[in-house]
Amino acid sequence: MLTKNGTIIKGIGGFYYVKTDIGIIECRARGKFRNEAKVPTVGDFADIDIDENGSGTVKKIGKRKNFFVRPPISNIDTLVLVAAVKNPNPDLLFIDKMLLIAKNNGVEAILCINKSDLCDSADAEKICKIYENADVKTIVTSTLSNVGIDELKGLINKKVTAFAGFSGVGKSSILKKLTGLDLQTGNISKKLSRGKHTTRCVELLEYADGSYLADTPGFSMLDLPKFPSEELWRYYPEFLSYADGCKFSDCRHLNERDCGIKNAVENGEIPPSRYESYRVFYEYLKQKENEY
Ligand code: GDP
Repeated sequence: MLTKNGTIIKGIGGFYYVKTDIGIIECRARGKFRNEAKVPTVGDFADIDIDENGSGTVKKIGKRKNFFVRPPISNIDTLVLVAAVKNPNPDLLFIDKMLLIAKNNGVEAILCINKSDLCDSADAEKICKIYENADVKTIVTSTLSNVGIDELKGLINKKVTAFAGFSGVGKSSILKKLTGLDLQTGNISKKLSRGKHTTRCVELLEYADGSYLADTPGFSMLDLPKFPSEELWRYYPEFLSYADGCKFSDCRHLNERDCGIKNAVENGEIPPSRYESYRVFYEYLKQKENEY
C-alpha cells in the first residue's frame, strides 16, 4: 500500500481522479464520506491510498480556501470575468455581482474587457476606469488582434482559474488562445452521455505545468451569496473610505441625509453604476432576509 497526496481533477460516477507526483490515480472514496457534509470535490487536496493494483482510495480531504456548490468545485485561485466592449455590450450589474461572489469566496478577480478591436482604446479604458478602485485587476484584450493575451496568460500562470461571462463575449476564443485547446466554458454545458441520463462533468484541465483551468459550466449563473444587507457596502472597496463621512453611524447609504458615499457618487468620485448595483443588491438581500 502506497500513500500519496494530490489534487482531485475530475469526479464522475463515484470515481475521483487524483493528480499525484506519480500520475493520475483513479480513486474511490472511503465509505465514511457518504455520511459527511464535506464530500470530495474537484479542486480538493486529497490524501489517498494506492493498492497493489494501482487503484486508489481517497482517505482524507484537506482544508479548503473556498468552495462552490453549483458548479461543485473548490480551491479556485482566480475568477476571470470576461465582458466585451460591444457585441454584446458589457453588463455592469452582472460584473458587479460576480465581483461580489469572488470577494465573498476569497477568490481573486480579473476583469477582462475583450473585443477591444471593435472600438477606440479610450472606450475600453472607460470601462476599466469604473473598476480602478474596486480591487480588481482589469485587462483589455482582443483575440483578433492578439492584444492582452500574453498578459492574461501571465496573470493566471500556475493558478487554478475559472472563466465567467455571458455567451458571445469571447470566452472560448480567449481559452483557445491561452491553451491552444478548443474549450467551451461558462454557459455552455459539457455533457457526458450516460444511457438515458446526461451528467455534467466538472474538470480541472492542466493546460501548462501547474496551470489549471476549471472546465465547468455554470460559473456565469451563480446566485448572489447570502449575507446581511447591512454588510453589503463593505464589499465595495471604493466605498470604504467615504463611509467615514456619513452623519449616522448606522447609515445604510440609501435615503439618509449627509451620506459620505452618496456625496462621493454626486461628486464623481464613485462611479454611478457601482452605486446603482449597490442599491439593487441591497434590495435583493433585504428581500431575502424578509423571506426567512
Ligand atoms: P463565448 O460564447 O463567450 O465562448 O464566445 P466565443 O469565443 O464563441 O466568441 C463569440 C464571437 O465573438 C465569435 O464569433 C468570435 O469569433 C467573436 N470574438 C471573440 N473574440 C473576439 C475579439 O477579440 N474581437 C472580435 N471582434 N470578435 C471576437
